[in-house]
Amino acid sequence: MRHRFSERKAAGRARVHGESKRPHLLSGVMRCGTCGSTMNVVGSKNKAGVRYYHYGCSARATKGAEICSNSIACSERKAEAAIIGALRDIVYQPEFIGRFVARFNARISKKKATTKKTEAELLDGQIAEVEARVRNLAQAVAKSGWFEALAEQLKTEESTMRALKARRGQVQSVEQRATKMLSEETVQGYLSDLLTLLEKDPARGRVALKRHVGAIVMKPTVEGTNRFYTATGAFDLRAIIPLKTFDPATIAGDRVSVETCCGGRI
Ligand SMILES: [Zn+2]
Repeated sequence: MRHRFSERKAAGRARVHGESKRPHLLSGVMRCGTCGSTMNVVGSKNKAGVRYYHYGCSARATKGAEICSNSIACSERKAEAAIIGALRDIVYQPEFIGRFVARFNARISKKKATTKKTEAELLDGQIAEVEARVRNLAQAVAKSGWFEALAEQLKTEESTMRALKARRGQVQSVEQRATKMLSEETVQGYLSDLLTLLEKDPARGRVALKRHVGAIVMKPTVEGTNRFYTATGAFDLRAIIPLKTFDPATIAGDRVSVETCCGGRI
């Protein structure tokens, strides 16, 4: 899915970046599309007592123009509005979240079905065998009369049967617990939490962003006198799911990844 940042500009919230202590949310998250170095805050301007920061290629800033030709500065305010806006858009994309939830749940069901087959079927097979032995013993008793040896054997088989049936009951309850499915509302909730974190706590938000979005590639673009960035990033929705609320064995090893690209002008 592609997001046009420019379309969102008008609707984007203006934010005052006056506090010098405020961490930079996107520091180290964006990469220069020319040389691949990280984009860091490379300068700032003071306007009416408020400091505005801007990002640029860190390699160019520290090593010079011969290392990287990208000289475009990008306002922190615009970059944050665009990237948070792109994530916010996902919350309001029911078909995108729906697709993710459907695939995620399909994986859980598939895993659950496989697990049930191997564990429960194995036990069912063992129970059937013990039942057959108990039947044979009963027939032997009917034919030959009651002997201590036969009675002992019958007791042993019956106690094996009880143990197997108890285990079979446990397997069933384990499987029932693991049927917990993901809902679209839950995913929307996780996304809203992530957005709140990005806006309220930039230091932790930056860590979350790196985990969920990975690197956002900033491609410098020049169109006539216009110089701007086109941002592209992949958002891994799977990373917002706290896996400990699901049976880890159910999902482990599965790559249930849905990615979205956000590209647009910054
Ligand atoms: Zn560069």
